[in-house]
Order: sequence, then C-alpha cells, then structure tokens
Amino acid sequence: MSELSYRQVHLDFHTSEHIPDIGKDFDGEQFAETLQAAHVDSITCFARCHHGWLYYPSKNRPDLMHPNLVAENLLLDQIDSCHRRGIKVPIYTTVQWDAYISRNHPEWLAIDENGDYINTQGVAEPHFYNTICLNSDYRDYFKAHLLDLIEVVGPERIDGLFMDILFRVDCHCTHCMKQMEARGIDTTQKSERLQYAGDMLDEFRAEISALIKERVPHAGIFYNSSHIGPNAKASLDSYTHLELESLPSGGWGYDHFPATARYARCLNKDLIGMTGKFHTYWGDFHSLKNKAALEFEVFQMLAMGTACSIGDQLHPNGTLSPAAYDLIGHVYGSVKELEPYCKHSKPVVEMAVLTPEEFTGGGVHPSLIGTVRMLQELSYQFNIIDSSMDLDAYSLLILPDVIPYQAALMEKIRTYVERGGKVIGTHESLQQIGQENPLYGHTYHGASTYDRDFVLPNETIGKELPKEAFVMYGQGAEVSPTTADTLMDTVQPYFNREGETFCSHQHAPSSGKIGHPAVTKHGNVIYFSHPIFRIYRKNCPAWCKQMLQDAVSLLLDTPLVQHDGPSTLLTSLHEDEKTQANILHMLHYITEKRSEDIYTIEDIIPLYHTTFQLRTADKQVQSVQLLPSGEEIPFEIKGNQLLFTVEKIAGYRLIQINWQA
Ligand SMILES: [Zn+2]
Repeated sequence: MSELSYRQVHLDFHTSEHIPDIGKDFDGEQFAETLQAAHVDSITCFARCHHGWLYYPSKNRPDLMHPNLVAENLLLDQIDSCHRRGIKVPIYTTVQWDAYISRNHPEWLAIDENGDYINTQGVAEPHFYNTICLNSDYRDYFKAHLLDLIEVVGPERIDGLFMDILFRVDCHCTHCMKQMEARGIDTTQKSERLQYAGDMLDEFRAEISALIKERVPHAGIFYNSSHIGPNAKASLDSYTHLELESLPSGGWGYDHFPATARYARCLNKDLIGMTGKFHTYWGDFHSLKNKAALEFEVFQMLAMGTACSIGDQLHPNGTLSPAAYDLIGHVYGSVKELEPYCKHSKPVVEMAVLTPEEFTGGGVHPSLIGTVRMLQELSYQFNIIDSSMDLDAYSLLILPDVIPYQAALMEKIRTYVERGGKVIGTHESLQQIGQENPLYGHTYHGASTYDRDFVLPNETIGKELPKEAFVMYGQGAEVSPTTADTLMDTVQPYFNREGETFCSHQHAPSSGKIGHPAVTKHGNVIYFSHPIFRIYRKNCPAWCKQMLQDAVSLLLDTPLVQHDGPSTLLTSLHEDEKTQANILHMLHYITEKRSEDIYTIEDIIPLYHTTFQLRTADKQVQSVQLLPSGEEIPFEIKGNQLLFTVEKIAGYRLIQINWQA
C-alpha cells in the first residue's frame, strides 16, 4: 500500500547567472493555485541547481544565492503557499553536478585514468557535467549545505529531499586511490574500481540519510541515479521510496520504464514513475508533450503500480506555463479519479523474468527489453526479478539469453522445478560449454557453426506458422539432447556468407539439412538455442513471438488474461489488498517513430468491442464494473474463464472484477 502523493511534479530550475531578474514575477498564491487547479498534490522545488546557485536565504553561504535572485525567499514561498493548499513540496538539491564547484574547486572533481575530468554527457566546456568526487572535501561541503538548508527551511516545513546525480564513476583521484589501497583493492582492475565506486556511493547515502533522519525524521529521502536496477539493492535502507526517472522522449526511450518498474516493484519500496511534460526531455523550454503521449506515460505508471511524477521547468521569472498545467491537469484529473483503485492494489502475475542486469551491469539489457516486449504483446502478467528473490510465487520463470551459469543459481532453479515450477531458458542461459545441463537435459557445445540458420515450424512449436524454414537473425547454440525431447529443429544454411562463399545480400539460404535442435523440452523446462529475446529486440520477427507463445502454452494451463484485441493493447492485472477485487488496466496507445530523434504518440486509436478472458480459479464472480463510474457490464462464465466485452477503450480503461465472498 502506498502512502505517496500520486500526482507529483518535478519542477527543474537550473538557471544560468546570465539570466536577469530571477523570480521577479513569482506569486506564491498564483503558483499554488495553478498547481491545485491541475490536481497536483506534490511538487519538488529547488534549493540548489546544477549551476551551483541557491534559491533560499542561506545563512552559511549567502554568497552562493543566485546573483540575480529577486525573490530571495523563492523556495520558502513555494513551500508555504503550497502547504496552505495541502500540496507537498519535497526539496531538490544537486550532488555530483555543480558548475560553481567545477570552477572553484577543480581539486574536488573526479578524474579518469588520464587525469581528465569525467563528463558523462559529452558536452563542450563550459558546462556543469563534470562529475564531483564524493571522497574529496566536497563531502563536507555537501553536508554543510544540507545542514544549512534544514536550518533555514526548518524541519517542520520539509516534506522530503530529492538528491540528484549519484553516478558510479571510475575515479582515479588521490582520495579514491588511497581509500581503495587502504581496503586492499586491486586498483589495476577496472571492475574492482567500479565495485568500490558503488560501495562508496552506498556508504555516502547511508551517511547522508542518517544525517537527515536525525534532524527531519518524517522527510522522504531519495537519491537519483537516473535508473533503478539491482545495483540499488545494497542501499535500499537509505531511501524512503524510489523514483524511476524515465523520460521516453529522452535517452530512456519507451522500453526503459516497464522494464525498470516491473523490477523495482519487487523491492518492497513505494514507487514513483517520472516522465516529463517536455516534447523531448529536461531543459526543453517552451515545448509541450503530445497529450496522448503524456496520457500513456502517466497511465502506464498506474498500470505498473507506481505513483506519478511529471517533470517541468519553471521559467526564470518564476511563472508556470498555463498551457503546461492545462496539459498536466487533463491527465492528473483522470489520475485523481482512478487512484483510489490503484493505491491499495498489488500486481497479480504468473511469470517472473530473471534480469541479466545483475550479471551484465550497464542498465536494462537488450534481451530483457525483447522479453518485456514479447510478454506484454502477448498479454502475459509478469515481474522482473533478480537471483536473490523468491521463485515460488511464480508459475513460470524465464531466463533470457545471457544469464551466466552459477552453481548456486542452478541449484535454486532445479529446486524450484522439483517443486513444480516451469522454466523457459534461452541460448547461453545457465550453460557451460561441453557440459551436460541437468536442467535442460542436453549437452551444450557453445556457439553454432552458422551465424544465421533457420527453424522449422511444426504442430508443437510454430503451430500457426507456415511449415517452412524461418531465419533466425542471431547466432544460435549447438546442443545434443541426452534426456530432453527435441520440439523443433534448426535447418542449416549452405554455408556462412563469407569469403569465397559470399552470396547475395544477406545470409545464404537453407540447404534443407536438419541441424541441431532449436527447441528442447525436459520435463517442465523448455530451452531455445537461439537468443530469441535479443533477436526480438533487434528485428522483432513475429515468428519468434509465436514460438515463445507455443512454448508457454505447453507449460501453463491458461494465461491469467487473454483478449481478442491487437498486440498493441497492454494489460495489467492487479488485486485490491482490502477487497481482493481484481483491477484490470487496459492501455491502448501506439508509439511511433515519426522523427529522427524520438518516438512519440499523437493519436488515440480507440478499440471497440474487445472481449477479455480472465482465469477465475475457484472464485465466483459477483460483478464486472467499469471504473470510475461503477457501471456494471455483462459477463459470462465458461469453465474456469470469465468472459466480458468492453465496448470502447479510448486510450485507457480500468475494469474492476468483484468476487463473491
Ligand atoms: Zn575520487
């Protein structure tokens, strides 16, 4: 159950000293009234920006107040005027990006192996993107800043602290080298240095959270690293909640948020999703996101089980854009009506996907994106988990493409299978070259001889496909069954298209000769020898998705949610924790790449007369209602299936299924 404000704004305010009259038109009453009219119930406002300037009357460093700040009490007035209307105001400050520090304390900056500053954004000087090292004396500067902020604002007025930019960087400064040597770390190994950098961030967060909790015990605390993955786990105690920054028209794209939220919701923390009202991303002044795109991004947060936050940037004159708050108000008006059905609900899932990220690092792995896309397009209900999490809550576990072999993980999964769990593993997952794999019942020989080969559909896998060869756009693996059955064969090409056997424009065609198995089955474990999820991410061949669907149907009786709508219809099933009613979220928005740079959504294309089929288990249905109206719609029961038809889905629709007590 979430106690978070569900309709938040994150109000950026990075403001150059070359802009005059900062906050000259700010009017606290008007500011709060605009927010209230747009149904905003929390807004994150700025104490300090990436330029290094302060927006409150600092006692400690008045010299760092923005030199052109007309509204000296800007932050305090934002807080007071919002509080009078019941709107919370968490406070933003920056941690590792600060132009003032860059200019005045270059000795506090992180440096790479060549002694150069670490600018992760690739922007030409001057800028504020040089990462600050938290092992330098800057740590004391930051703590003094926090204490000053807490004293000036007063603990009773502080709803929370949002601390931005904590990046794990490979710092070679003397402080970091000394610390690593003291801990006996091999500083010649990059992986060791990065491990230390992560540990150091964890320690920094613990120290800062202790400082905040001592003085402002009720404050929300969040540290932003622009992504939440398994790396966040070691520090979870330092956060009161998690915010999932993910602006689809920025660098994150539309695939990042669902992949991140489905993992983060397994971390037992309240979650906030965060997008922006910008057409592109942060700092995009005087732009509005398409209304349909903002609807989708925000409603998807509800469907994934998170509260909502929309990023905006305040004009330096201190006024909010009326058009931006018309847009935000349009979406948040709907959220306000629907959040009572979302706040106290938890996702109902049938599958878990093991994330490769804890092994590969580097954010959401392409094979995971391919998995999320396939499963969502097939209307399956799933979480993303890491190897330490419990498997027993799931009927089926998916191991996408690149999960490395680990004895303990193999043991855990074999125990899960012995207890009745089902597994789909693909490609290299849990394989060792030359070894018989007891989970899959075959011996793994490593990469295929062919960079591309073919699969041959049959009545078990690829049932709906024409019974002829289909290319696989990624190199498979060779396996020989020992105790497994072969469910699908590969077909070999004449040769690889290389050297003297160069042929046509892409791969050589099928030779008709049967190769190693493409799909094997060993009890309740199905294995695909190709990286089908990575292939789907790269080329989205529909035949890969159909092959996966056929494999799932061999292992699971009936999916939780089925429908006769298109693959662009996203479904998400939840259960109300108090009433046990099911809430089914339905989203139909189609993302399009209309430009060189970004994907977006411009139109809502309604779906009419869509029939849904839900597995009822042993429960008796009392009623099916449209939300928020409560209007009941007809339903029928066929065996253990509940069937009902939704006449119109114009973008987003919530349905509640009430069960008899
Ligand atoms: Zn350092």
